[in-house]
Amino acid sequence: MSKLLIKNIKSIVTVDDEDRVLNNSNIYIVDGVIKHIGKEVFEADEVIDGSNYYAYPGLINTHHHLYQTFSRNLPQVQNLELFPWLKALYEIWKGLDQDMIYYSSMTGIGDLMKNGCTTVFDHHYVFPSSAPGELIDTQFDVASKIGIRLHASRGSMSRSVKDGGLPPDSVVQTTDEILADSIRLIDKYHDPSPFSMRQIVLAPCSPFSVTDDLMIETAKLARSKGVRIHTHLCETLDEENYTLSRYNLRPLAYMESLGWVGSDVWYAHGIHFNDDELKLLAQTQTGIAHCPVSNMKLSSGIARIPDMLKLGVPVGLAVDGSASNDGSNLIEELRVGFLLHRLNSSNLAPTGYDMLKIATRGSAKLLGRTDIGSLEEGKAGDLFMIDSRDLSLIGTQSDPKSIFAVVGYNKPVDYTIVNGKVVVRKGNLVNVDEEEISRKANELVDCLLKKA
Ligand SMILES: [Zn+2]
Repeated sequence: MSKLLIKNIKSIVTVDDEDRVLNNSNIYIVDGVIKHIGKEVFEADEVIDGSNYYAYPGLINTHHHLYQTFSRNLPQVQNLELFPWLKALYEIWKGLDQDMIYYSSMTGIGDLMKNGCTTVFDHHYVFPSSAPGELIDTQFDVASKIGIRLHASRGSMSRSVKDGGLPPDSVVQTTDEILADSIRLIDKYHDPSPFSMRQIVLAPCSPFSVTDDLMIETAKLARSKGVRIHTHLCETLDEENYTLSRYNLRPLAYMESLGWVGSDVWYAHGIHFNDDELKLLAQTQTGIAHCPVSNMKLSSGIARIPDMLKLGVPVGLAVDGSASNDGSNLIEELRVGFLLHRLNSSNLAPTGYDMLKIATRGSAKLLGRTDIGSLEEGKAGDLFMIDSRDLSLIGTQSDPKSIFAVVGYNKPVDYTIVNGKVVVRKGNLVNVDEEEISRKANELVDCLLKKA
């Protein structure tokens, strides 16, 4: 039995149903589950003095492409929008191999954790024909070593240029290959039980890189196995033109025709929805992973988050892939999203605290989880803490709930705790050697870029 006590925390931002902020209180975690939040003191294996810290529920990332950590900040794609940007990058990504997936996942997840993230969903959809390998297995290996809660996806692309899609032949697979590997991964890894550390999502990449039959068969398989489904949707007007010209349907109508709406579905981006489509998302509880930095960088547009929140569409936060971000920091996403919607929607924009709720409870809902996203007795021991004495926080103590969105926070957090285990301490990863990862990852980045 493992017991962790964090004593006398200056402020606990619980993000519970009553939006409580508890001052000078303790959090006691036993075997990964919060047993007590309040004034009582218990014996523990480790006791952390929380008297100078603000504590928050761990942030939950609902859309990423960790492999893109190795193709960031490339000058040749700096000024491109999504379609030409993807076409240029496929030529690099087709050189990915298993070692690169290992170290890019380690790097991206490490960065996320150092910035308060405790659960990550990764949308991996590139399986190069040169090395399709056991890429998702590798990601679970990384997750268990570094100590994060991972929802991995069996992503896929099946429609290449010759069939009217965007990607080259070198990165697509057949429907049969994809479904067989999906079944293998669900049977091997998917754990639906409370406090699960490993889940599988089925995630064909997008309407312009996946065939209709793969979309349909994926949804059927997922529902028969009880796993969730995810894809990119309504990211750009190019995509809208694609489905209109090919099917005479707007993107959401196209996906609806394939069985892709419902509370087990969430889409990345969701920018170009009209009023009726937003109502359909709300009625069916189909969710949206909001990726403000990526949407700004690729000039994709501004998601209608204020309207979605008003209608009750489930919304979570995400960094998107590292090539369109170009990082893995949800705290930065909180601030950029807050400022973007303030600029665009003024007093209708989400508040600073609304943004935190989107990144915690909102994100948990997209992943289908009720055991994470807030700090309450009976929930998972997933949290992070920052030092209230930091110079950058002087004068901000009026509202700890809003610090990340309104003020920003530009350094690693002091503690990240996942499943009751300290995985970041004083800003450093606990379970892995950061210098070693950095050295090997840089070698592999050189190797990937040279191949292209
Ligand atoms: Zn994406």
